[in-house]
Amino acid sequence: MKIESLTVGPLAENCYLVIDESTNRAVLIDPGDEPERILSALSTSGATLDAIWLTHAHFDHVGAIAGVVREHPVPVHMHPLDAPVLEQAVDSALRYGVRIDAPPAADLELAEGDVLSVGSVKLEVIHLPGHAPGHVAFHGNGVIFGGDCLFAGSIGRSDIPYGDRETLDASLVRMVALGDDLAVYPGHGPRTTIGRERRSNPFLLGAARHVRVRR
Ligand SMILES: [Zn+2]
Ligand SMILES: [Zn+2]
Repeated sequence: MKIESLTVGPLAENCYLVIDESTNRAVLIDPGDEPERILSALSTSGATLDAIWLTHAHFDHVGAIAGVVREHPVPVHMHPLDAPVLEQAVDSALRYGVRIDAPPAADLELAEGDVLSVGSVKLEVIHLPGHAPGHVAFHGNGVIFGGDCLFAGSIGRSDIPYGDRETLDASLVRMVALGDDLAVYPGHGPRTTIGRERRSNPFLLGAARHVRVRR
């Protein structure tokens, strides 16, 4: 599995081009902005795009979908609980002074435990709500595409429409339980590992403590 990272748009969102080199098939995770750059990276890779997978539907993660599917009419996979977030993406972008092409409705509904394929590579869908109700991560092959749940030194916001801190804390605890060696490819900022965040991320320690108290 080859992973190319493109940081796009005014919110510096990480779009990932995931390629299975044995079959030359690819998926895009969170094509958030700058469709031309994403299309150019795809073209340079020589891989065939099979699908777009969304961790969630905030405007900074969906702004390039329209531009990508115009060239490559592939299905968009998303958790159905983020449908209202997707519908409001254009308006919420405008509130940040950002204009995006209206994303099409999702084609396929993701659910907890789904196993998705990129060629011969398999990744499992984990539902991690709290930052957004239909927020998911894609996990397998020693990596997790974690969206806006866990960042290097920080965590996703929950003080936003559809956000919920207690739900996010439970999702963070679930993510941490996946193991220290796991490489985290976040929706913003640099790559990290679960172990590094477990030892040093103050928000994550808070989340873990919070959930222990509730048991
Ligand atoms: Zn987000
Ligand atoms: Zn984001």
